[in-house]
Amino acid sequence: MPKFTRKRVMVTGGAGFLGSHLCERLLANGNDVLCVDNFFTGTKDNIAHLLESSHFELLRHDITFPLYVEVDEIYNLACPASPIHYQFDPVQTTKTSVHGAINMLGLAKRTKAKIFQASTSEVYGDPEVHPQSEEYMGRVNPIGPRSCYDEGKRCAETLFFDYHRQHKLRIKVARIFNTYGPRMHPNDGRVVSNFIVQALKNEPITLYGNGMQTRSFCYVDDMVEGFIRLMETEDEVTGPMNLGNTGEFTIRQLAELVVQLTGSRSKLVFKPLPIDDPRRRQPDITLARRVLQWEPVVPLTEGLEKTIRYFEGLLSSGATEDSRRRSSPPLVATGGNTASRADA
Ligand code: NAD
Ligand code: UDP
Ligand code: UDP
Repeated sequence: MPKFTRKRVMVTGGAGFLGSHLCERLLANGNDVLCVDNFFTGTKDNIAHLLESSHFELLRHDITFPLYVEVDEIYNLACPASPIHYQFDPVQTTKTSVHGAINMLGLAKRTKAKIFQASTSEVYGDPEVHPQSEEYMGRVNPIGPRSCYDEGKRCAETLFFDYHRQHKLRIKVARIFNTYGPRMHPNDGRVVSNFIVQALKNEPITLYGNGMQTRSFCYVDDMVEGFIRLMETEDEVTGPMNLGNTGEFTIRQLAELVVQLTGSRSKLVFKPLPIDDPRRRQPDITLARRVLQWEPVVPLTEGLEKTIRYFEGLLSSGATEDSRRRSSPPLVATGGNTASRADA
């Protein structure tokens, strides 16, 4: 594509699970991509294949510190997303959501860039309304172990809408529901990665509580398509907009499906339910269907098969053992442009 038509797109958290798929897609669409990451939970392995492109740049940076670059669009994805990762250093999690949002919004204000926020279904907390639509204001515990993530993301939404009203920023806020796929961290404790790794190793599958809580799982390619479509909407479209798959499954159903697809000998075992674990979660995506003409197209079985193949590859290369060693603890002190993880 000629130089003058290329957009300069920045992706914070670009070395993570969702961010790396997004970088890939943005590059394929003919953009110049700047990936900004402090490697807290993301890895260079996730974006190594993009480094050979002259249209891809990687910057090690912690977004809780100011950043001065010139860009046209910003996708703000930086934030640990799995409970064990975001609870490892909860103060840093809130700082990433809140100070990070202020810095990225300040950058968008100066450069007049359009800015996308990766918000979350966790803003609904443990919901009394089902399925959850964007009008529902949520039921979030402000002082529990999940609060650093939930309230941090809620405050980031507040900042996005205040910058929009006060400084006329062009904002796009997506509320992302559980998403899975290749490049999930094998030891991040999330249910899909946990169950697949356990099943492939024929180890017990750990169901928390009675396994009757529900989630709705979206394959990563569908989610990235939703991100791009939301970013491309008219300026009047700000969100918040739910993005997710409406297929709702109990965690027990997910476990049984993973066992079946892997042909595993694993047995199901029951463990205590974590504090404030939401009992039901299913997106109402009426708004996204209408405004983006978007809905997920990858069925759970097909998405799981692709994810299983990815984890089979990781296990046979021994990479999960390596990352298990590296992820306990996953980080050292953070700060500015310095390394935030010993191996990064
Ligand atoms: P991830 O942990 O794989 O990716 C997060 C990335 O952000 C990592 O590469 C990490 O190193 C980086 N990061 C963390 N703190 C940073 C900081 N201070 N400065 C710079 N980089 C930092 O998680 P993911 O699943 O890819 O999630 C991406 C985004 O989407 C997150 O904001 C998350 O809250 C949101 N989200 C994800 C899901 C999901 O199911 N995957 C659901 C809802 C919301
Ligand atoms: N900021 C940044 N990059 C920029 C512009 C601003 O990181 O290109 C940060 C800066 O640290 C600032 C924050 O964004 O504190 C918010 O910027 P804003 O202009 O809203 O506020 P102010 O500069 O008045 O604090
Ligand atoms: N979960 C489980 N076993 C696991 C990991 C998670 O039963 O090994 C449950 C967890 O308690 C929650 C659901 O699966 O009810 C989804 O958990 P995850 O951490 O993936 O996402 P979130 O709770 O943030 O939706």
